[in-house]
Amino acid sequence: MFELKKQVRPNIWELEPYSCARDEFKGEASVYLDANENPFDLPFNRYPDPLQKNLKSEIKKIKGIKCRNTFLGNGSDEAIDLLYRIFCEPQKDNVVAITPTYGMYKVCADINNVEYRNVLLDENFQIKADALLERTDENTRIIWLCSPNNPTGNLLNPLEIEKILKNFSGIVVIDEAYIDFADSESWSKRLSEFPNMVILQTLSKAWGCAGLRLGIAYASEAIIGLFNKVKYPYNVNDSSQKIAAETLRQYGIFKERRDTIIDEREKLKSNLLNLPFVRHIYPSDANFILVKVDNANATYQYLVKDGIIVRNRNSVVLCENSLRITIGTPKENEILLDTLKKMPY
Ligand SMILES: *Cc1c(COP(=O)(O)O)cnc(C)c1O
Repeated sequence: MFELKKQVRPNIWELEPYSCARDEFKGEASVYLDANENPFDLPFNRYPDPLQKNLKSEIKKIKGIKCRNTFLGNGSDEAIDLLYRIFCEPQKDNVVAITPTYGMYKVCADINNVEYRNVLLDENFQIKADALLERTDENTRIIWLCSPNNPTGNLLNPLEIEKILKNFSGIVVIDEAYIDFADSESWSKRLSEFPNMVILQTLSKAWGCAGLRLGIAYASEAIIGLFNKVKYPYNVNDSSQKIAAETLRQYGIFKERRDTIIDEREKLKSNLLNLPFVRHIYPSDANFILVKVDNANATYQYLVKDGIIVRNRNSVVLCENSLRITIGTPKENEILLDTLKKMPY
């Protein structure tokens, strides 16, 4: 059984958070003399909204999740780090994750001095719930899942995910950074079923706002409360909040570009398969494809020489001789393809 208090570090459970000026007075006023701000230098003289209420309500209009189940951070990377700081006692607790997956889960574990346990995906890059559960013990606080997974591009089997959610008494994180490209519902729709589930999403990929740094976590109100206690008071700056809110109001542009990227992904895939040195392209529900070639290092170097940068995943377990290629504009994808066609083979 999941019992939140047992999973949280005692110092965090007891933490009395910093109370900023904007926490202590929440109404509307005409004269603000409470935060030692500069009264001139508009429009950035004021501290931003610590709980990003406007932006959250724009996100709610699109994603349909209540603001009180939503945390916003300086990229999902902030949420990843906060999860360690909330749940994992350094040098005592551990986490379990799949491999290969997004590198930040491991880096943040190392920074926080938390043991990181790997479980290898199968040959189809799928998970087995039992294999992950077997690696847990009484000090396991988090299981990290990423679906669609990076760098493999595939969705993880929902039945296995559900089994993990039901049978693990700690936190299960499902990173859905690429969910907007996927032909599948977000797990955030099932928040009320699973009090131990944390969903991560981001405005960095399909929403085209990587430079603004805006990550989203969806979880129970109790877990969101812990995020809010531990985060920096003003963790998302005012210009990011405003520009992101404006971007979210332009759903038509988002949808058109997202659909173009998906079309281009399928087109690039079939074109690449005609090249003699392309051995396999893995199924992708994301805005990138993992491509197995005869010689990833040589292909990577050849592309670099022509000013085209892809991600060489040759040294990643199960991704030997594989390149991760982000889907670009139609023009960029054409340049990539033309350049590869000319590669000496
Ligand atoms: C790109 C990516 C993110 C996004 O991180 P941000 O800090 O929000 O830019 C998160 N998780 C995965 C798996 C990613 O690939």
